[in-house]
Amino acid sequence: MYDLAIIGGGPAALSGAVYAGRKRLDTVLIAKEIGGQLLLTSGIENYLGFESITGAELADKFANQMAQYDIDEIIGEKVVELFKQDYFFKIRTEGDQWSEARAVILASGKRSRTLNVPGERELTGRGVAYCATCDAPLFAGRKVAVIGGGNSAFEAVIDLLPIATEIFLIDIAPHWFADQILIDRIEESPKVKSFQLHRVVEILGERRVSEIVIEPIEGGEIKQFNVQGVFVEIGLVPNSEFVEGLVKMNQYQEIIVDCHARTNVPGLFAAGDVTDVPEKQVIISAGEGAKAALSAYRYLIRQKGQV
Ligand SMILES: Cc1cc2nc3c(=O)[nH]c(=O)nc-3n(C[C@H](O)[C@H](O)[C@H](O)COP(=O)(O)OP(=O)(O)OC[C@H]3O[C@@H](n4cnc5c(N)ncnc54)[C@H](O)[C@@H]3O)c2cc1C
Repeated sequence: MYDLAIIGGGPAALSGAVYAGRKRLDTVLIAKEIGGQLLLTSGIENYLGFESITGAELADKFANQMAQYDIDEIIGEKVVELFKQDYFFKIRTEGDQWSEARAVILASGKRSRTLNVPGERELTGRGVAYCATCDAPLFAGRKVAVIGGGNSAFEAVIDLLPIATEIFLIDIAPHWFADQILIDRIEESPKVKSFQLHRVVEILGERRVSEIVIEPIEGGEIKQFNVQGVFVEIGLVPNSEFVEGLVKMNQYQEIIVDCHARTNVPGLFAAGDVTDVPEKQVIISAGEGAKAALSAYRYLIRQKGQV
């Protein structure tokens, strides 16, 4: 029986683990992988103390700091079940590993939203991609489509500009939601062809992506383009399915927390992108993770002789 289980391996979880370690809580960290969305980020320039650092380097630094403390780790396992039994929690992973803890921090972050169109799932990893930072170099000299109209989509286009020969930027909205500074950087490029108010109908390809089919959302002529890559950049969804029914969430499936990182379930805390805390950023997730660990510590010392 652990004092604390932390679910996740991103900035919120790792920061929480450092704080839990310093309070000498008997802690287990369970994560699919260490790094979270940092691994999808090429450069971070707004994390205090580092003027510019790659996401992978920052993740390494976080993990090294956590390693200074005595934290048990279950890495490579996804939590699929979590429930409360009497005064403690039981946690089950996909590989059927069970853990028990008196308190839990949910720090499972977010993942990319999918288009849910024919061809997407079948061709994922074979031309359909969700991380331009990771996969753009694979499309040198190729034609690609980027789906979305926010910052992620524009950052993907910027990553692809020096690599791809032609970029179709496709979005259902009538105007872009990206920061103007990013819009300005691509609007002049002759490589980029924009299609606002269009939706993706289908992604075609035998072994790899070969075409994308789009249509105007208000009706009209269907268009088909020859592309070898499709970057889906339409936002993120919280990894909160495994606590559905246990904990209160908002309409976006984000876990509702108070300013102490407490959920509505005693002993269950949450931090970072998986919560309804506004602004999804590394520094905010790290701060919330620290807060959740301190709140968990306070919760535990109020339980009968637990710590
Ligand atoms: C392309 C991109 C660029 C970005 N650029 C910046 C930037 O420049 N500056 C900035 O501040 N922020 C940036 N962000 C946002 C930042 O990366 C996130 O806000 C931050 O990583 C959130 O941290 P987190 O720990 O809450 O969640 P995440 O980083 O999402 O980590 C969640 C962790 O939980 C694990 N997990 C999920 N489900 C389960 C489960 N069921 N069981 C076990 N483990 C699970 C995941 O594998 C992962 O390890 C960027 C994000 C992206 C995608």
